Amino acid sequence: MKEKTSGRLSFLRNKLFQNLFCALLILTVAVLTGYEFYTFRHYREEIRVPEGTEIQHLSDYLPSLKGTAGDTEIYVFRGEEKGGSLLVMGGTHADELAGHLSAVIMAENLKVTRGTVFVMPRANNSGFTNNFPQEASPMYVEIPTAGGVRTLVYGSRATNPVDQWPDPDLYTHFPSGQGLSGSETRNLNRSYPGRENGSFTERVAFAIKNLILENGIDLTIDLHEASPEYPNINSSVLHERAMKLSGDASLELNDIGISMRMEVSPATLHGLTHRELGDYTNTLAVLMETANPCQGRIRGATNAALAVSGKDACYEQAAKLGYLYVPYDENGVPIEERCGRHLQAVQVYAEALGWVFGEEYTIDMSGLPGYDELVKGSVGDWLR
Ligand SMILES: [Zn+2]
Repeated sequence: MKEKTSGRLSFLRNKLFQNLFCALLILTVAVLTGYEFYTFRHYREEIRVPEGTEIQHLSDYLPSLKGTAGDTEIYVFRGEEKGGSLLVMGGTHADELAGHLSAVIMAENLKVTRGTVFVMPRANNSGFTNNFPQEASPMYVEIPTAGGVRTLVYGSRATNPVDQWPDPDLYTHFPSGQGLSGSETRNLNRSYPGRENGSFTERVAFAIKNLILENGIDLTIDLHEASPEYPNINSSVLHERAMKLSGDASLELNDIGISMRMEVSPATLHGLTHRELGDYTNTLAVLMETANPCQGRIRGATNAALAVSGKDACYEQAAKLGYLYVPYDENGVPIEERCGRHLQAVQVYAEALGWVFGEEYTIDMSGLPGYDELVKGSVGDWLR
């Protein structure tokens, strides 16, 4: 009997130690990951605009965004002469590095002598406060510059669930009624034209639409990236009213050696910039895509180096087998090539606005690198 009791006690003691060990392990993991999550959510990425740059906030266009992760800075460059107006958005999807970085380079280098240019590098600011750990997605990328290393956030395609939760099983787009999968409810580029009292992401979309309406913005360019196996890359997707502008700009880009496919926005695909901003405002809405293997399904090791170099052995093999829609070799698609495309295209489109619609729409800007300058150098040369 005594032996039986002591055996039982020792069993219970072992169980207690096991349970305590497990509880301690869980607590340690929770504290470490919680700390990482907290610091990532509150990391302040620096955008070093020249002194005296006019800074607006998205909450100026929808006050309920003030004090939330949906508020974001808009840098405004006004020329002395009147002309056309342009809005460039990066970071609609915070894991599409070239879109975000191109807008940062614009904000830090742009000079405008005629017309007005609005630059918003973190369109869905909340997307920069979370990422996709299950996809092994990096959290930061480091870019060497003459003045030291600049750390940029590599965020998520979607609004942070902390800001908008739970996702419905089926997301019904407002006002079209189109059904989409539940997680798309946090995708800014499925939320236009947005709603004043809608979900967090719909409110961000609504504020961007107001920014365009209140400033009468002539041309809106939304900068994105997609995986190299996605058919619609190295391309622009445009609202039908932007067809003439895009055609002329694409021909000009082709003349300087940059091939840019054009696709007209499908009338029945709702929520996207190139559809809803074109339908609900007078802006000419264009979305541009470059190739980012870090987002692809057939990539190998996923890390910050891949996001910057765009170099991946699996994609090299896929290209040899003819599975990709963009030229891809052992040099990959480095960030210089991707930002070079975006920045060259933005400059050509801005110029084309004057050719196509007349003198009063002219935008004269300088200070930005072209495609050749970027591919021969480094993006770090253009960060302050
Ligand atoms: Zn995107």
